[in-house]
Amino acid sequence: PSISRSQEQKLDNLNEGSKTSNKSLNRKHWILQQRRSLPIASVERRLVDEVRKNDTIIIVGETGSGKTTQLPQYLFNAGFCRDGKVIGITQPRRVAAVTVAKRVAEECDAQLGQKVGYAIRFDDATSTSTRIKYMTDGLLLREALLDPILSRYSVIIIDEAHERTVHTDVLLGLLKKVQDARLKQHKLDKPYINNVVKVDNECHSSNMKFAPLKLIIMSASLDAKGFSEYFCGAKAVYVQGRQYPVDILYTYQPEPDYVDATLITIFQIHLDDSPGDILAFLTGQEEIELVDMLVHERLKQLPERSRNILTVPIYSSLPSEQQMNVFRPTPSNFRKVILATNIAETSVTIPGVKYVIDPGVVKSRYYNPVTGMESLIIMPISKAQALQRSGRAGREGPGKCFRLYPESEFWKLIDSTVPEIKRCSLSNVVLQLKALGFNDIIGFDFMDKPSRSAIKQSLQELYLLGALTDDCKLSDPVGIQMARFPLDPIYSKALILSGEFRCLEEMLIVVAMLSVESIFYSPREKLEESVVIIYEMALLYSSPPVVFYCKARSAWKKFSSPDGDHLTLVTVFRAAVEYREKIRAATNKEKAIDKSLSRWCRDNFINNRSLKHALDVHSQIKVYLEQMDMSLSSCGDDVLQFRRCLTASFFLNAAEKQPDGSYRVKANGQNVQIHPSSVLFRTKPECIIFTELIQTNQIYVRNISRAWMPELSQYYDVER
Ligand code: ADP
Ligand code: MG
Repeated sequence: PSISRSQEQKLDNLNEGSKTSNKSLNRKHWILQQRRSLPIASVERRLVDEVRKNDTIIIVGETGSGKTTQLPQYLFNAGFCRDGKVIGITQPRRVAAVTVAKRVAEECDAQLGQKVGYAIRFDDATSTSTRIKYMTDGLLLREALLDPILSRYSVIIIDEAHERTVHTDVLLGLLKKVQDARLKQHKLDKPYINNVVKVDNECHSSNMKFAPLKLIIMSASLDAKGFSEYFCGAKAVYVQGRQYPVDILYTYQPEPDYVDATLITIFQIHLDDSPGDILAFLTGQEEIELVDMLVHERLKQLPERSRNILTVPIYSSLPSEQQMNVFRPTPSNFRKVILATNIAETSVTIPGVKYVIDPGVVKSRYYNPVTGMESLIIMPISKAQALQRSGRAGREGPGKCFRLYPESEFWKLIDSTVPEIKRCSLSNVVLQLKALGFNDIIGFDFMDKPSRSAIKQSLQELYLLGALTDDCKLSDPVGIQMARFPLDPIYSKALILSGEFRCLEEMLIVVAMLSVESIFYSPREKLEESVVIIYEMALLYSSPPVVFYCKARSAWKKFSSPDGDHLTLVTVFRAAVEYREKIRAATNKEKAIDKSLSRWCRDNFINNRSLKHALDVHSQIKVYLEQMDMSLSSCGDDVLQFRRCLTASFFLNAAEKQPDGSYRVKANGQNVQIHPSSVLFRTKPECIIFTELIQTNQIYVRNISRAWMPELSQYYDVER
């Protein structure tokens, strides 16, 4: 964990001196030149004309051609923001919304949050003067709850539509309806002159409150047909990209361990190949942090002159001040190694990449329609994704892509990724659509219809959680309240219930801590499994990650609660806050406080980035609670009260011990194991409540507490 900090310092030192005004003038000039040389720049006029002429268009263009950063600026300059209207651009990923907004603000020579801003869940960097607003697709959906015709927007751009996230799909359906509603209003508003409707496609006439909504679908995949058909034959415009040849290299054999293979490939390129940055695709924060650590371990074994590698991680929950690091120019004599999730596939284009390492896997949501449960699994990518990944190596010159699988495997991959809506739990979608006034979910105009059984499962779950009435309407107040929280329905329910059980303070901490990836530093799941077996003999293994893990486990002991992982998380959170307040009493310098907290995390083997993110989420949800007049009561030492509340909230996630030590989920009979990282791994209580399901070679439940049986018996027949 100490590595990233010293890395940052290295970057800072190397980039020192670039702050003089001369340099900043140069930078402005350089940025302008960069903008002008983007492929999209040559079709600016044409694009603006097409948007004027059509209410809906589809823009297809290769990654890096300038769609996301340039088009909103073109439209702004063409007058689409007159009357104070806003151009909204949705992104499937938080990081993309943030980094692109920062870049565009710089390009416009504006302060972030003024003309150009972003809004993502729990982080709003916009103001009343914001005209170009980048946001996540989920956030725009939430805005529709408050403003059903999205009246502030003149243009909405659905970016990265090819990703087909569940939010994008719901938005597409919703925006079709919003467009209709706005058009109707618009016609009513129109001044009639001699029975001729004055045609005015530029939304600048001040009496027009409901100008038609311009909708732009942007995609990096060449297949625009599906979108065009869905939008009644909407026109597709193609932006020519620029692509240099990329050498594709495969392995001869399947790799048993892609993390190890990635590491070997990084060093092989570094030692044998010409200069150029490396982009490696990994599946998540934990894996990225592990590879980061291992790269630095191995660097120590190289001669001094070969240690010129700089690693930069990029993934969704990376604190925003660190996200821009990937865009900093690589210092001369250094090779940048970007460790990214599939965020770098199409959402963010990182300059300087010449080598791509593609292990061929991605972490995605998977929904089991039989059990009605959702989990995250690591699965093979699609052919389209493999092509996107290799394309990242040929943006600025010829490049190389190392696919860590044999060519025969490539041909077995599915052509393109199945839309998320067909492989995730729909509870959230159903709740939101109901709150938006769409009662007939099965009849909703989805681009790809989710299965009827998945919809029914979600309706049933929402009914059991009390969000729906007997006739399937949103219940008042529980359902309405639940829809207002930007959380999974089950977490919203937990917060609402904990008000009644007088342990909202504890539950709020739990929800915040569960909203981030891995609070505890844990080198890879696989390692954890093996460590449990070899724990006692750990000293025989001198491998640094194992030693690290053993030290970590003993550091975590002081936080662990006999009641389970949830109260353990509460203890960690409170210890961190207490420590921070102590430091704050001595100094009021935020940087110093930050630094101390990082050190505290390091000493306790707590993931600093995750903890900070959790602190952030905590204070944001608190704002929601205050707005809803919910008071933060604590159960104090009465942990039974908390366990009762946890059981009442998550009764759908209760599991009973079986004679062989595995567990059976009471709601659906699924067989699961307690994850080795749980504090209850060895205790194995009779009945547990879990809040996460993960699937590796086994199905594990993670974040577990002892269930409170008397409470549970209210939801299940005793004899089942
Ligand atoms: P597209 O949306 O078509 O994939 P973008 O508009 O995202 O393309 O990117 C256009 C160019 O801007 C790319 O060359 C990319 O490297 C550059 N770019 C985007 N964001 C940043 C940033 N934060 N810093 C530096 N360059 C950036
Ligand atoms: Mg883009």
